Amino acid sequence: MAANGESWLSCIKCGQKYSISRRKYICDRCHGLLEVKHTFTENFTEEGFRGVWHYKPLIHPSLEKARIVSRGEGATALYSHDSVSEFAGISGLRMKHEGENPTGSFKDRGMTVAVSEAIRLGATETVCASTGNTSASAASYSALAGIKSNVLIPSGNVSPSKLSQAIAYGARIIDTPGDFDMAMKNVARIAENSLDYYVLNSINPWRVEGQKTIFFEIMNELKECRFIALPAGNLGNTSAAGKAIREFSELGLINDIPEIISVQAEGASPFYNLWAGGMEKLEPVKASTIASAIRIGNPVNWEKAIREIRYTGGMVVTVSDREIMEAKRVVDRSGIGCEPASAASVAGLKKLVDEGKIDRNDRAVAVLTGNILKDTASIMEDSARIPMETFMRELLA
Ligand SMILES: *Cc1c(COP(=O)(O)O)cnc(C)c1O
Ligand SMILES: [Zn+2]
Repeated sequence: MAANGESWLSCIKCGQKYSISRRKYICDRCHGLLEVKHTFTENFTEEGFRGVWHYKPLIHPSLEKARIVSRGEGATALYSHDSVSEFAGISGLRMKHEGENPTGSFKDRGMTVAVSEAIRLGATETVCASTGNTSASAASYSALAGIKSNVLIPSGNVSPSKLSQAIAYGARIIDTPGDFDMAMKNVARIAENSLDYYVLNSINPWRVEGQKTIFFEIMNELKECRFIALPAGNLGNTSAAGKAIREFSELGLINDIPEIISVQAEGASPFYNLWAGGMEKLEPVKASTIASAIRIGNPVNWEKAIREIRYTGGMVVTVSDREIMEAKRVVDRSGIGCEPASAASVAGLKKLVDEGKIDRNDRAVAVLTGNILKDTASIMEDSARIPMETFMRELLA
């Protein structure tokens, strides 16, 4: 048995164990996904850190503190606003704003852990496929650590506001033909052919460790929380939610298990099909939605994610682009604001209330995954501006 505070990689399908000093993402024996496991010490939190690393004993207990590559991610705010509560039909709806992270999305929580691990392993280059936010975050943290980042983007399919972050942070941008799912396949090709490139997509199990802290913070702050809704693309975050809930429950830190609500866009809903259809295997789809962060047809983490939805007794739901943009407008006009994909969480809760599956008095949190400044093209399309002269005429009338 491992000593306290040790970590190892474990295959979610066959249980095969690997040392964390191996750069591995999938199992040699069965091609299953790997997850990080720890023997927990008595302390669950680390003095002197706030945000993600406050939970260091639960995410990477043996890492030397000097190796941490951090920009102070996490410890984001939980908002509530009457207009959003009213729109969704849930009186005490809370919004966890992950857009307040350093590069503007929850990806920073996973990236601080994965890039710290890259440094510990002596990697000199990182690589990821991205619909935008992963690349912005990977580029920032790689630069901070002094290593090179390589970003594979689906050509012509990434929001300029996200891509400009990756460019500015100095990433090497590699145009790949096709969609995100093709770019992800190309990352696998690179990883198979060279150990020099450390993969920063959420197939990297350390990303999930960092992202668990979104849910640790929610469970810590809200003792009673029945539902946690989040937009679902590559399903790393759905996986992180379930792992966080399982660990808090095993450690005796919560009594009730919050139910995960994964929300997909109608045009990119292979996970919904899997869950609703009771299928054995996820069937990839061709993804199409205005919400670029969840425009993913072949999510790599589906096997972890479906296990977590079932464990928490949660649900998967789809929403249309129109419903997403309606919810975004309400969140934006409340003064809180978020990117389109993030609003899917609010839209999904509203839909479940309308269908009678969630009650007005249930306690629920919607995770707003990204900042309002991401993916701005959709806002500019319907911006009505008035000429100064018209304004003055109305003022003087
Ligand atoms: C990455 C991302 C998602 C999707 O998360 P997954 O873990 O891939 O399911 C949703 N919203 C935003 C803003 C993102 O950046
Ligand atoms: Zn295996």
